[in-house]
Amino acid sequence: MNASTSQRLHFDAVVIGAGFAGLYMLHRLRLLGRRAHVFEAGDGVGGTWYWNCYPGARCDVDSMQYSYSWSPELQQEWKWTERYPAQAEILRYINHVADRFDLRRDISLNAKVSAGQWLADEQRWLVRTEQGQEATCDILITATGCLSESRLPNIEGLDGYKGRTYHTGRWPKEPVDFTGLRVGIMGTGSSGIQAIPQLAKQAKELYVFQRTPNFSVPAWNGPIDPAHQQDWLSNYPQYREQARNTRSGIMYEYGTQSALEMSDEARAEEMERRWRKGGTNFAHSFNDTFINRQSNELLSDFVRGKIKQMVQDPAVAEKLLPHDHGIGTKRICVDTGYYQTYNLPHVKLVDLRSTPIERFDDSAAITREGRYELDAMVFATGYDAVTGALERLNLVGEQGKTFKQLWQSGPTSYLGLMTAGFPNLFTITGPGSPSILTNVIVSIEQHVEWIANCLDYMDQHGHTRIDPQQAAQDQWVKHVQEVANGTLFVSANSWYMGANIPGKPRVFLPYIGGFSTYASHCQEVVKKGYEGFDFSRPQAVAGR
Ligand code: NAP
Repeated sequence: MNASTSQRLHFDAVVIGAGFAGLYMLHRLRLLGRRAHVFEAGDGVGGTWYWNCYPGARCDVDSMQYSYSWSPELQQEWKWTERYPAQAEILRYINHVADRFDLRRDISLNAKVSAGQWLADEQRWLVRTEQGQEATCDILITATGCLSESRLPNIEGLDGYKGRTYHTGRWPKEPVDFTGLRVGIMGTGSSGIQAIPQLAKQAKELYVFQRTPNFSVPAWNGPIDPAHQQDWLSNYPQYREQARNTRSGIMYEYGTQSALEMSDEARAEEMERRWRKGGTNFAHSFNDTFINRQSNELLSDFVRGKIKQMVQDPAVAEKLLPHDHGIGTKRICVDTGYYQTYNLPHVKLVDLRSTPIERFDDSAAITREGRYELDAMVFATGYDAVTGALERLNLVGEQGKTFKQLWQSGPTSYLGLMTAGFPNLFTITGPGSPSILTNVIVSIEQHVEWIANCLDYMDQHGHTRIDPQQAAQDQWVKHVQEVANGTLFVSANSWYMGANIPGKPRVFLPYIGGFSTYASHCQEVVKKGYEGFDFSRPQAVAGR
């Protein structure tokens, strides 16, 4: 069914977003016999992987792990081609899932939810899309992603710049050719670090405008090892279970020793061995990388040494060395030839700390050292992470407040699943859940399954309304911060901390207690009769 613009439709459940979370949620709602509908802003399914089709876009979780685990058949029939899947391959996979499970008939594309409110009289949500659709629903579920609200920097004159502009998180669907162009790129996080080597292959001149250098580890990507693929296909149930029992939801080789317990030789050997394996696994070299400053510094310094070896010009290498944060306390990056790109004669690194861009005019970025004439400017400047997409839904809760109004000093949520004052509204991978600190598909599945089981429980007990208790929520919010404060993460100016958005409260956004701990806690809550949640069947729905 398609939600048309002319009438207000009603569904048992509305899901916002058709990425990994929204698609699985829709599937589970159908299994529960609920009439569900998905509103999706894009003109295709895939969420993050729909929008992020910039050159070089690739996941840095191993292909065999970055997929759904809920269908053994799907798991067996899909064959990945590379160690790390490229954006196009992941998008093909998501489209395959949408077709295979016949999901599209309950998805409205080009339907961006931009407003909504809790209708107390009806005990329902009303949502509106920018395109004019309206729907009511008994249960509203956000599947809007943690890294979906892209942001451009506020630089004087940018509006008047006449060159082509792009954001990595809103990349056009048609091919973009930079051949022969003078190209600028701002941002050296995961997206920038992936895009820069690719842009350098086409651009006549490439200027990288760097504010903060990051730590990046080689991907050593390549065709998937057939034996590795077969091993996973043969052992999927056990491996998935093992992954769920880790703190990242990923089968990493987690270091079991402190860097400080090892001899200099043994430590150096271990870091070298892990560097040769590559990937985000490197950050887990020691068991205390994220909690012990000295241990972290040893690993950080090893990578600085590698950067100096890879970059030929010592002055350029010096600018690429991260000193303001420890490795992994901002999301570690994974690259293919990133540092080597600075050895190319047409690639220039512009250090914004010493020479900030003062303004743009119609053809150039201007620093106090001069003009950079640019035919195109790429922004890899990141996202209003975790809370941004939720706030921009403009959902008005029971007390007449939106998330934005309520979250002035940081997001409030019970388990990252619900927020007091927003009855019957579930937030998949919401703030205060492990979400983007993990293999996000593992976190998504855990949330979707928890929500589906909860809805089933409500059906069985005749409940139509669920609310988190304020006290339970307060305690959870406190716990999330306490756990974060025990790590080095809170010392970095990262998007985890909201530090990339001017005026955003400085609060650690996800839950860093570990996926397995978190999932066990959610199970405990259920076992204790959904501890911290209130259920009811208000008068308004008694006759429905
Ligand atoms: P990001 O990590 O937030 O990086 C944004 C970059 O833009 C930073 O270098 C930042 O500098 C810079 N920047 C922002 N505003 C600026 C300004 N006004 N002036 C100059 N520089 C500015 O964003 P991202 O690279 O898109 O990555 C976001 C997250 O998405 C990643 O951390 C990761 O979780 C995920 N991701 C994953 C993959 C993958 O799996 N391989 C790929 C892409 C993205 P500062 O550091 O100084 O703020």
